[in-house]
Amino acid sequence: MKLKRIVKTAHRLSRPYRIDDGKHFRLKDVDPDDTGGLTSEDKPRAKEALQTGVEALAALQDMLYAQDRWALLLIFQAMDAAGKDGAIKHVMSGINPQGCQVYSFKAPSAVELDHDYLWRTHVCVPERGRIGIFNRSYYEEVLVVRVHPEILAAQRLPKELDGKRLFEHRYEDISAFERYLGRNGVVVRKFFLHVSRGEQKRRFLERLDQPEKNWKFSASDVKERGCWKDYMGAYEDAIRATATEEAPWYVVPANNKWFTRVVVASAIIDALAGLDLQYPKVDKSKQQALAAARKQLAAEK
Ligand code: ATP
Ligand code: MG
Repeated sequence: MKLKRIVKTAHRLSRPYRIDDGKHFRLKDVDPDDTGGLTSEDKPRAKEALQTGVEALAALQDMLYAQDRWALLLIFQAMDAAGKDGAIKHVMSGINPQGCQVYSFKAPSAVELDHDYLWRTHVCVPERGRIGIFNRSYYEEVLVVRVHPEILAAQRLPKELDGKRLFEHRYEDISAFERYLGRNGVVVRKFFLHVSRGEQKRRFLERLDQPEKNWKFSASDVKERGCWKDYMGAYEDAIRATATEEAPWYVVPANNKWFTRVVVASAIIDALAGLDLQYPKVDKSKQQALAAARKQLAAEK
């Protein structure tokens, strides 16, 4: 397979959306409608490219699994209806399920609230050789929790620790945690699927109009939409504070699902291709054992 070429294209496609130094990042510089210069006529070609990308991803994952050294953690964050679930479903469609773990993080349970906020996510970090997907994550702790202070109150932090700099401390701790993961062979990539408020409205209406999509709609989605500006501020601050070379954010235009998926697949290919994955080498004694096994099988009646 022309893996090398696919890897090169994947790098080129995903690079413009990668933030590895948040200092100068501004959300308004990313247009949710952006399709990287491709038009809707390119859509069929983009879909083909996605298919090719998915196959390349499966080949890389196979080596990741066989080599059993690195793990890849993919974090997805977005407003409702931005397409997290669809992106995960399409991009990971060719992957061997044995090598992949998906976790969705919703509002914490009573038991989870009794612990520090990284506790529930830390146990879900992928094992070596695996790809782990977080559908929402500990980033909610600096997003929804910042937008709704009453959620923070429910966390029952000692009041000495619940100070003005609480969110700055959380950014620091999250960055430190991600650095820790990186130093343990867990490669972290974070995706913010950036949908516009207008497109979200269109997708909500679609969910309300089509009976088979009704289940996706919840009344609280409209309530959260009311806090759009606060959320955008929280996302911008979080990305600015936690985008690093080792754990970059990808801010992916999300008004066109086909484009979102191409960028996400490309970024994952780029991450895996950077690891110099190889199948484990078979040493001399193992080679001899294989030869002996072959002989024995051939000798069977
Ligand atoms: P999604 O909204 O991710 O598509 P869903 O609709 O199936 O999934 P929900 O029941 O809406 O699931 O759960 C997601 C909600 O949980 C989000 O609104 C999110 O903000 C909230 N949530 C996630 N983590 C936390 C947290 N640590 N504290 C408070 N709320 C959280
Ligand atoms: Mg929801």
